Amino acid sequence: MSQFWSPIVHKLTPYVPGEQPKVSNLVKLNTNENPYGPSPKVLAAIAAANNDSLKLYPDPNAEALKQAIANYHALDANQVFVGNGSDEVLAHAFQALLKHDAPLLFPDISYSFYPVYCGLYEIDYRQIPLNDAFEIDVNDYKQTCGGIIFPNPNAPTGRVLPLAAVEKLLQMHPHAVVVVDEAYIDFGGESAAKLINQYANLLVVQTLSKSRSLAGIRVGFALGQAHLIEALERVKNSFNSYPLDRLAIPAAIAAFEDEVYFQQTCGKIIATRENLVSHLTSLGFEVLPSAANFIFARHPEHDAAQLAQALRENAIIVRHFKLPRIDQFLRITIGNDIENARLCEVMSQIVAK
Ligand SMILES: *Cc1c(COP(=O)(O)O)cnc(C)c1O
Repeated sequence: MSQFWSPIVHKLTPYVPGEQPKVSNLVKLNTNENPYGPSPKVLAAIAAANNDSLKLYPDPNAEALKQAIANYHALDANQVFVGNGSDEVLAHAFQALLKHDAPLLFPDISYSFYPVYCGLYEIDYRQIPLNDAFEIDVNDYKQTCGGIIFPNPNAPTGRVLPLAAVEKLLQMHPHAVVVVDEAYIDFGGESAAKLINQYANLLVVQTLSKSRSLAGIRVGFALGQAHLIEALERVKNSFNSYPLDRLAIPAAIAAFEDEVYFQQTCGKIIATRENLVSHLTSLGFEVLPSAANFIFARHPEHDAAQLAQALRENAIIVRHFKLPRIDQFLRITIGNDIENARLCEVMSQIVAK
């Protein structure tokens, strides 16, 4: 029945998210969710909002949330854009800021949603290979482009680009927007948010899904100078007036108000990550330096797909990408201490065989 489809639909290759299995008691280390629940203050804020007022539309501009994010990052509210998960924020950025005659540049190994948005919005793009150490070399970006986007820390490698190198890109292309997708920045990188007032071409995108344990509530945001935010607002208001609902808005505000909980949970994840890295290294794995809540590792004597299958047989799921250059790596989300101990135990058994 696909004769009914709009022509572009035939050409789309949609993004495939990591699986969300229905069965419980799996050690689920495949989609970079936070192993700790949201702050108790977030749950209280949702409970307080769970009332008759749900019959009313939410604030279309989520002003209170924008102000909370602006305060947190020492910016003005008109330098903040919010959306239904950072995926939606990114989608609007592709359409509002990154679609030009010259190609958009992004790394060959990076978030696999980027080429999907290019397909949806018919944006020409060029993938720039990471170097042999799986790092971004900013000198490779000295070419004509309509924009640049990359995750920092990068996904799925976990490697972080120092802020000085981000600045080099911004200076190299003053007439193109550089989008820094900071989904994992709170686990070890230095945010480019502090550069917003210096660079008219910088857009920083963050999410509450990873470091603030709210993947289920769908809140993401962008930070940039007001002219960039206005472009995003124009696209958003041509698409959906109410991307954030009456439960999501207070939940997100409460998440920014509980700094202690945020610091504690990020700290625990970083400590567990370092523990996992030393264990896997002792088993002979090569682990890329990670500034994220996941690690990217390969073993010289064990095939990655077989390792993933062996883990699965022990009720542990991790992510394996059947893609050029990275098909011998596993991307493993950092779990809690119990999950991490189980992973280390099972991995030791598999590798010993
Ligand atoms: C998880 C992730 C996102 C999307 O996060 P949501 O806010 O949950 O939509 C965006 N970019 C990267 C690189 C991610 O890993």
